[in-house]
Amino acid sequence: MSVRGRRPTRRSPLPGYKACRNCKAVVPDEAEKCPVCGGTDFTKDWMGLVIILKPEESCIAKKLGINRAGMYAIEVL
Ligand SMILES: [Zn+2]
Repeated sequence: MSVRGRRPTRRSPLPGYKACRNCKAVVPDEAEKCPVCGGTDFTKDWMGLVIILKPEESCIAKKLGINRAGMYAIEVL
């Protein structure tokens, strides 16, 4: 490591969690399959966490295309 100290990398806001590239659901690291879409393509590079309780009443959910309650990343890189 150089004297510049900490690298300005973007870290996941929730250690131990990863995001589904397909539907942006945030799931624990140990999950093998996405509980929302059944996908297996996950990434640690995600930003912003949104918790959707009532997708039918949430304009955030509509914007993100979410129709199931749960935790989602706002941006998957
Ligand atoms: Zn998914």
